Amino acid sequence: MNVQTESFIRDSTAAVQNKSLQARLRVLTSFTVRRDAAFAQLKDGEALRDRAREIKEQTISNLDTYLIELEKNVVRLGGTVHWARTGEEACAIVLELARKNNVSLVVKSKSMVTEEVELNDALEHAGIEAVETDLGEYIVQLAHEKPSHILAPAVHKSKGDISELFADKLGVANLKEAEEMTVVARKRLREKFCTADMGITGANFAVAETGTIVLVENEGNIRLSTTLPRIHVALVGIEKVVPSLDDLAVFLKILARSASGQKMSSYVSFINGARKADEADGAEEFHLILLDNGRTRILADEEMRESLYCLRCGACLNVCPVYQKIGGHAYGSVYSGPIGSILTPAFAGLEKAKDLPFASTLCGACREICPVRIDIPRILLKLRSDWSEGRHDSAGPSLPEKLAIKLWAFAMRHVFIYNLAFRVPAFLQGPLLEDGKFKGLPSVLDGWTQNRDFPALARKSFRSMWHDAE
Ligand code: SF4
Repeated sequence: MNVQTESFIRDSTAAVQNKSLQARLRVLTSFTVRRDAAFAQLKDGEALRDRAREIKEQTISNLDTYLIELEKNVVRLGGTVHWARTGEEACAIVLELARKNNVSLVVKSKSMVTEEVELNDALEHAGIEAVETDLGEYIVQLAHEKPSHILAPAVHKSKGDISELFADKLGVANLKEAEEMTVVARKRLREKFCTADMGITGANFAVAETGTIVLVENEGNIRLSTTLPRIHVALVGIEKVVPSLDDLAVFLKILARSASGQKMSSYVSFINGARKADEADGAEEFHLILLDNGRTRILADEEMRESLYCLRCGACLNVCPVYQKIGGHAYGSVYSGPIGSILTPAFAGLEKAKDLPFASTLCGACREICPVRIDIPRILLKLRSDWSEGRHDSAGPSLPEKLAIKLWAFAMRHVFIYNLAFRVPAFLQGPLLEDGKFKGLPSVLDGWTQNRDFPALARKSFRSMWHDAE
């Protein structure tokens, strides 16, 4: 997975100063308000979340068994199953299918996993046109950008931005309302749906017991992508398997509520293999590509494993105070926000993404809202510890950081030194204070005070106040 997380600090600083982005990101709180209201209407909402987590725990621990069952049932329904160890392998399989069938135009539905493997680039290099058909994805594709949110890929763009983009790329000027822009996009996409040879989707779930691929959406574009073109290819991460339709029902009750605050999405499509002789619509060929791309490595790590429970609902992004200030692009990865801060290091390596586990206040809001109760703060702390201890890849702290950590550990073990380390600065800090606070810390510490004050050190320690009270 290609990531640009090395520039996280620079990009997040720029994002915080971007007034238009800040205005757009305010919309995220409305997602959370709607999500809370939707869950409040569910009598057994908390029990459903517990059940969803149980199912995920059970499925991920027996992933091999369920994947084999899934494969058997997809084949029984007339589909073909391909296994891809890496993103490159997944792209190669799609390209091979496209070449064999003389495909020149592909319609795509919103799929994080095709973003993860950069399938659009691979198709473009092979001279195949790939058109995103989800409205948000269509907008970011026109702008040559990446999605900035799992659920709302163009959340960073205002109506004005999109109007300008449509004028520039589609030659349709002066569009004011979202409805007008939607009509323009719909007309353009209709031509593509009718002429595409291949439809490519992801999947929200793949049901092992029936071989059914389940897709959840609001716009109807997935339904068109899976039924109009002659060939349907679903590229799916191996963690998306669920054992049975009963288990699926649990996830369907909580997914849309967590994502957009809806009781249920507008469309839920169940794809059962290729079109049968007596069926009116559907693709003539159905191919399921099951993608590993680092997932079995995560599976093998007991501490990281629960990150595979993720439903990609986006709720943790909406509630995260860091994501709310910097948006998705600063993360430099298709997976942003709290879940991205653990998935990106897991997929791309901690060395490349070392800043992400530290980009958290550890407030725990992501854990509270996650429909499958992934303990994201715990995993962030594990990754921080891996980095600090130099346990991951070739990542590790720099020499000054190592020295600082050693000094801190030494002070923590020697109470006299520890007290001295705070008491002396407490008496000397006077000239640096303004209104009783540090407005700017010196040297390498100044990062603390770029956007906030630092409280003055207390002249009297808690320990001595405690003694006085006794
Ligand atoms: S970690 Fe939880 S809240 Fe975040 S996207 Fe995944 S399922 Fe949703």
